[in-house]
Amino acid sequence: MNPSPTRLLIHGASGRMGQALLRLAAEQPALFTVAAAVTRRAPAQRVVEGVPHFAATEVSGVPAFDVAIDFSLPEGFDPILALCVERGQPLVSGTTGIDAVQQAALAAAATRIPLVWATNFSLGVAVLAELVERAASALPGWDVDVVESHHVHKKDAPSGTALTLGQAAGSAGAPVQYASLRAGDIVGEHTVQFAGLGERIELIHRATHRDIFARGALHVARTLVGRAPGAYRVRDLLD
Ligand code: NAD
Repeated sequence: MNPSPTRLLIHGASGRMGQALLRLAAEQPALFTVAAAVTRRAPAQRVVEGVPHFAATEVSGVPAFDVAIDFSLPEGFDPILALCVERGQPLVSGTTGIDAVQQAALAAAATRIPLVWATNFSLGVAVLAELVERAASALPGWDVDVVESHHVHKKDAPSGTALTLGQAAGSAGAPVQYASLRAGDIVGEHTVQFAGLGERIELIHRATHRDIFARGALHVARTLVGRAPGAYRVRDLLD
């Protein structure tokens, strides 16, 4: 792992995730320094005092960085991927909703740079997926269900995380059933249930704060620096 502070490019810096990344990076000056913050438009004031700010149209002019972290929107994805390939630097992206063409561009870029694109950067969910895969292979013939609960504003169901966990749960061939609940301000709960005859296992992850995604992305970013090109999963980069 990189011994000196990792120089970050934060892409989508004015958003909820971008702001969490900037705040958490500033709390760990021995580990992180922010080389540039990029947003869709140039704001009237700086995103964070002392951090060089760039509008998306000026992204080609950003100073040197060790790794880019992108939590923006699909329309911002292509330029930041292109910049990372051009500079030969790693990319960590949590931007959801990218289309098949962008997925293909991501796969092509992975032959040139190390990168992680994931719909969930929680380290707990990464560990849960591993546990689920292990349970699935040890319990052939058991019924498998994924139950997820989120706040009432969440539109997609099942959640991307539920589908990822479902893939792990069904990795031994069992069909997976999904159930989605939308209630109150729940940040995110995922239960994977394995039911046999006379016994049942439930593996549960409860997210109580959105910072977990920013914390996970920062961990992944630091761990990705210096790796060989490739598409890594969050779980590949756990300590
Ligand atoms: P937000 O709307 O609060 O912020 C979006 C940010 O993207 C802003 O800074 C905006 O200026 C920037 N942006 C928009 N268009 C851009 C462009 N063309 N070029 C450059 N920057 C542009 O959104 P948010 O809640 O911070 O979420 C950002 C993304 O991260 C979304 O895709 C969301 O689904 C995803 N997300 C992923 C995870 C995960 O763990 N993978 C967790 C939370 C959110």
